Amino acid sequence: MYAFKAYRVENQVVINGRHKYRQGEVLADLLNQDFTKLKEKYEECLRLEVPVRYPDIGVPDDYTQMVYAVQTFFNYVDDMVLRLPVYRDFLKPEDTRPDGLINLLSSYPELFEEGEGIFFNEAHSGDCTFDEDIHGEEYDEEEGFEARERRRRHGKDGAVSNTLSGIVLTSFTPNNPEETYSVLVGQLNRRIVKLCDNYLALAAELLRVPYVYSDLLDDYIHKLPSLLQPSAVAGAMEAYFADREEYDKTHRSGVYERMGEKRGTSTTHEVMVYEDENGGTAKRLWEVTEHGSIGSFLYDEFFGGLETGRLPKRCAICGKYFLLDSGYSADFCERIAPGEAEKTCRDIGARKRYDEKVKNDPIWLAYQRAYKTHYARVSKKKLTKPEFAAWSDWAIELRGKALNGEIEFEEYVRKLKR
Ligand SMILES: [Zn+2]
Repeated sequence: MYAFKAYRVENQVVINGRHKYRQGEVLADLLNQDFTKLKEKYEECLRLEVPVRYPDIGVPDDYTQMVYAVQTFFNYVDDMVLRLPVYRDFLKPEDTRPDGLINLLSSYPELFEEGEGIFFNEAHSGDCTFDEDIHGEEYDEEEGFEARERRRRHGKDGAVSNTLSGIVLTSFTPNNPEETYSVLVGQLNRRIVKLCDNYLALAAELLRVPYVYSDLLDDYIHKLPSLLQPSAVAGAMEAYFADREEYDKTHRSGVYERMGEKRGTSTTHEVMVYEDENGGTAKRLWEVTEHGSIGSFLYDEFFGGLETGRLPKRCAICGKYFLLDSGYSADFCERIAPGEAEKTCRDIGARKRYDEKVKNDPIWLAYQRAYKTHYARVSKKKLTKPEFAAWSDWAIELRGKALNGEIEFEEYVRKLKR
C-alpha cells in the first residue's frame, strides 16, 4: 500500500525524486517514534479480522461495532503515516483511505438489512464513532434506498476520486441472504480480507522497527568495536539469527517481531544530476527502486548501512537514536542533553568519559594534576600562555606514550612534574 520510488547514490536517498535524506536517516527517525498505541490497535484489528467478514450463519450482535473498530484502526494508520518520514513526503490526506471498510460494505446494500444511511458528498475523515464525525446530508426519503449504490465521483482527468459520494451505511446488520447472493458474499469477503491485510501489513512493517531493528542495533551491531570489518559484522548477524531461531522455538512471536524481507520491489538504474553538500552538481548513476511498502525500503536502509557504517545508534545519554556517519564512531548524539540549556549529549558524554578516566587511571590522574599545576602558573604569570600551550601539547604526547607502555609510570610522573 502507498508505493514510492527511492533514488540512491553515495550517501543520499531521494524519495520520489524530490525529498532528500541521508542514508539511514529514515530508519533513525522511525526508531525514535512511539508505536505503543499502533500496537494496541493492530492487535485489536488482528483479532477482528475474521469476525468482521460477512457471517455464514447468524448475525453477531456487535457486528457494527466491529466494523467501526476496524475502520478506526485504518484511520489511525492513515493519520499516522501522514506524519512519518517518506510517507509524509508524497501522501496527501486525500490520497489515504483509498477504500475504507464502511465504504466497501456500503457498496453491497443487498447484503444488509435496511438501516441508517447517510448521503455523502464530502470526504470522510477522523476516527469513526457511531454518531460523530460522519458529515453529510441526511438521506433523502424521495430518492429511495434503490439509489444507494455507491457513486464515485470522477475528477477532471478521469481519475476516480476518493471522495465518498452516494449512500454510505452507518449500521450493518447482515441479512444472511439466500443462495442467490453467495457470489456477492464471496466477493465481499475477499475484498474485506485484502483491505485488512493491506493495513495490517503496513502496521506490522512499522512495528518491526522497534521490535527488530532496535534490538539488532543495540545488542548485536553496536557491540562491535567497528562497523567496517565485514567478518565481525557477519559474526554479529550470525549470532542474531541464531538467537532469534531459539526465541521462536519457545515463543509465539508476532509477524512484526521477525526480520522482514525485501518484497515487491523492482530496481533500475538512471543517470541523473547529483547535488553534493556544497551545492556542486555532477552526473551520477542512480539506483532507482520502486518499493511497494516501507518494509522493503527499511530493509535496504539497514543492510545498506551495514556495508557503509551509516546506521542509527542509541545515544548513551538521552536514549534517542542518531545517525552514525561512515567510519565515525560516536556514543552520544548532538541534541541538547536532558535537563541542559546548551550542552549537547556529546559535550556531557565527553566530560563524563574524561572524569571516569581520571578517576580510574593513575596515568590520567597524574596528567590532570600536572595540568592544574601548570595552569596555575599562568595565572601567577610564572608561565606565558604560549609556553603553557607548548607544555600542554608535549604533556598529551607524553600521556599517550605512558598509556601505550612506551615509558615507565615513575618516569612519566617525574617528567610531568618538571
Ligand atoms: Zn543524546
